[in-house]
Amino acid sequence: MCGIFAYTGEKDAGAILIDGLTSLEYRGYDSAGIYLPDSGCIKAAGPVSELRKKIPGGLKGHSGIAHLRWATHGEPTEENAHPHSGEAGEIWVVHNGIIENFKELKEKLQKAGHTFKSSTDTEVMPHLIEEHMKAEPDFEKATFKALNEIRGTYGMAIQYKNEPDKIIAARMGAPVVIGLGEGENFVASDASPILRHTRQVVYLHDGEVAVLTPTIHSIYTLDALKVERQAEEVDWSTEVAQKGGYEHFMLKEIMEGPEVVENTLRGRLIPEQGLARLGGLERVAGRLGEMERIIIVGCGTAYYAGLTGEYMLEEFSGLPVEVELGSEFRYRKPVLNNRTILLAISQSGETADTLEAIREGKRRGALTLGIVNTVGSTIARETDAGVYNHAGPEIGVASTKALVSQLTALALLTIFLGRQRTMAASEGSEIAAALLALPEKIRMILETREAIEAMAKKYAASRDFLYIGRKYNYSLAFEGALKLKEISYIHAEGCGAGEMKHGPLAMIDENFPTLAIAPQDSVYEKMLSNIQEIKARKGPVIALTTEGNTDIESLTSDILYVPKTIEMLQPILNVVPLQLFAYYFAKEKGLNVDRPRNLAKSVTVE
Ligand code: GLU
Repeated sequence: MCGIFAYTGEKDAGAILIDGLTSLEYRGYDSAGIYLPDSGCIKAAGPVSELRKKIPGGLKGHSGIAHLRWATHGEPTEENAHPHSGEAGEIWVVHNGIIENFKELKEKLQKAGHTFKSSTDTEVMPHLIEEHMKAEPDFEKATFKALNEIRGTYGMAIQYKNEPDKIIAARMGAPVVIGLGEGENFVASDASPILRHTRQVVYLHDGEVAVLTPTIHSIYTLDALKVERQAEEVDWSTEVAQKGGYEHFMLKEIMEGPEVVENTLRGRLIPEQGLARLGGLERVAGRLGEMERIIIVGCGTAYYAGLTGEYMLEEFSGLPVEVELGSEFRYRKPVLNNRTILLAISQSGETADTLEAIREGKRRGALTLGIVNTVGSTIARETDAGVYNHAGPEIGVASTKALVSQLTALALLTIFLGRQRTMAASEGSEIAAALLALPEKIRMILETREAIEAMAKKYAASRDFLYIGRKYNYSLAFEGALKLKEISYIHAEGCGAGEMKHGPLAMIDENFPTLAIAPQDSVYEKMLSNIQEIKARKGPVIALTTEGNTDIESLTSDILYVPKTIEMLQPILNVVPLQLFAYYFAKEKGLNVDRPRNLAKSVTVE
């Protein structure tokens, strides 16, 4: 995810663009950049404030494009900041998304004599347009040709120095909004930077291209067929627009689940061969084949991702796995050697304890890997290799979409390591097919959010909550409780369902509700017995189970249904209603869901 913004009109484009970037800042803060045909290109690593410092006197010009980057390919440096240009510095592009086939395009262009200045995927686009313009110097035609060659996701704005009034915008899997003003038009990733100028907007659909001048806006398909679309009036405030119309970032981020899984999987599965292709592990693929053991380290939600990962990896890769809290690992004397993989899981890539664990592991000769969301973060740089989540920035302090992505990445890693060892191609294919079906299933869960909201309201007066689960859903019991604790401040506990009799059952009475994660899997019967035991003590039970399971109805006060997938992936679906439940619970209590008291987003101190 990142922010794109473009303007063409009569006013001071520099001021409008910089101002617009500020309201898009939540979308990315790795670098900022701006291009105006009349002033050239200026970029800075870091947030918009760094870019502002570079242009104290403002910029000259009435049109331009601007960008905030959330890096996916290449470190968050000034060099990699957008806008990117071709050889001649005439075609300029800002891009949100990933061009999947950039490697092959880049090689082709390099052979044709193009030199590249950045390590981004984006830079192929201006070069490609430039290459087409050599054959026929028509900016629009060349852009359509280039758009038809790239594969992947994009929200883009493109400008040509010699036609400064014109902006071409295109969309495939990343949002693009066109703002229609009087004698001025805008392009942006969401409506927030547009709203102070106009409330008339047109949303581009996937596979559409808009050609804008100050007075004209035309929309086409990728085959250059004209599309008629009425403008809509938005009545959102800037703040609501930033949250995609949702009340909180946390809800917006939960709602992004389907795209997050798609983005984590994009280009990484070869289902027919049952293989996972993880570019970030290529360098160490040989060594990975020789490894004998895995230790996963993480903190908070990432640690719980690791617990589920342990079950996936042990079942399908045959490698022994342990999971450790970063804060424990770094202060004890762990036994590991050069046949051990030390895998760090961290959304921010800056989690202090996890980072120290990695450093300790390195000193002891382990092969260090990361599952990290933030490109170029310290953990990403210090590990030997890794898998990026591509989940986009997570703003809500309570981690939601990052966990969905971490579990998806762990499933990819399981296929990768499993296929180096005992996993049959057919098994790999089965997991791959199930992974690819997840986004649609998450969409179905999100559609039931009103029912989850009603249930959260019903229980919002509770002062305690227990979550139980087994096997693949064992860790979700802790994660469900953590979500509730961190945003609603009530006492919540997670417990392996089989452990109830060893103590926690004593807490249960009619005022102590339990959320039982009980999909119809290999431990379902065991879960049923545990639910019976709670019921016998008059404890109210909410069951989270798979669709079509009616035999649990008589035992429970309320039921949350989720679609079924294969057992190892079921937590990726189950976690979504747990997140929604916590969200609505805290909202009902009137709490600041995005900024819970006493907590910070990325824990860079121990
Ligand atoms: N893939 C592009 C890059 O890494 C764009 C990332 C984004 O959406 O911010 O530069």
